[in-house]
Amino acid sequence: MAQIRVENLRKSFDQFTAVHGSTFTIDDGAFFAMLGPSGCGKTTTLRMIAGLELPTEGKILLDGEDVTFRRAAARDIAFVFQLFALYPHMNVAENIAFPLKCQGMAKREISGRVQETARLLRIEHLLSSKTSKLSGGDRQRVALGRAMVRRPKAFLMDEPLGALDAEFRHLMCSELRELHDRIGATTVYVTHDQLEAMSMADQIAVMNKGCVEQTGSPQEIYDRPASMFVADFIGSPPMNFLRFEGGLRTGDRAIVFHDTSFAVPEIGQDCAPAPLALGVRPEHIRFSDAAPVRGEVFGAEYLGTTQIVTVDTAHGRVAARLPSSAMVRIGETVGLEFRSERLVLFDVS
Ligand code: ADP
Ligand code: MG
Repeated sequence: MAQIRVENLRKSFDQFTAVHGSTFTIDDGAFFAMLGPSGCGKTTTLRMIAGLELPTEGKILLDGEDVTFRRAAARDIAFVFQLFALYPHMNVAENIAFPLKCQGMAKREISGRVQETARLLRIEHLLSSKTSKLSGGDRQRVALGRAMVRRPKAFLMDEPLGALDAEFRHLMCSELRELHDRIGATTVYVTHDQLEAMSMADQIAVMNKGCVEQTGSPQEIYDRPASMFVADFIGSPPMNFLRFEGGLRTGDRAIVFHDTSFAVPEIGQDCAPAPLALGVRPEHIRFSDAAPVRGEVFGAEYLGTTQIVTVDTAHGRVAARLPSSAMVRIGETVGLEFRSERLVLFDVS
């Protein structure tokens, strides 16, 4: 088990920089997700941690030890490409034993390790089964077993469930998290799916165009997004942004928006007057006749217990999550009230 620290990690391919100086720490035993759209540099970062790619600049520390120039095989890190790719002509025990056999380990020792791994994964009863007969969950366990049997310090997984359909993926996610909790090994999980990252990870690094925009717990990232990119990428529907030319001066404690005064959160210290955007999550909006921000209902999408109602205002289109029982008429004028303590202020200059 291990703590992984990445310091100012940069990777350029000729003129193109894929990763721009990332810094973050992955705690020992954590389930850490790297989340971001396709092409943002997740795989490149993971390959550098694994030792499959040399950084252009920066350091990788494993339990405080600099391993930046150590070759992949000497890092004790398992890179899991695809959780379902098993050798079809071997049974479960042979699949798990394979990496040790390649290392030239003695037969008796291999057998002990395979037993121990199978016990941890609760698949002892399957050791002599053919892999083609296994359920999806058991296949995933065997694939993990094959990675675990070498007793790596950490697991790196690059979109391991990407090829599965949504329902099955959801099931495999909870299974994977449960296995992690039982085994306790540091896991770095790469995904472009925010729901996967939010539901599985202890900590998430949100990446955009080669930069880590924010690192934090799912709740921190959801409640206090550090940038408009993060606010927009997390949550479905995403956060609304109400742009206005209010401005904020150093020392201001509140902003006034449509006659309503909102206490100012993070910004407020050394902030020059600037165009601002108020970020508000759809679930923190309700309709109120007296509210000063007004708009016309554009549409409503029924989702069972809730509905997403879109309203056109002078500050742009706003999505509100309301109970399905709320009566909404397309075209009617409504007032929007925001939970002021949940607003996030962004500088858009
Ligand atoms: P992600 O995994 O987030 O989708 P990648 O790390 O695979 O992103 O890629 C980040 C960027 O770096 C992409 O624009 C990709 O085209 C580029 N890239 C990745 N590997 C190479 C390479 N070997 N040579 C040149 N460009 C690369
Ligand atoms: Mg990738």
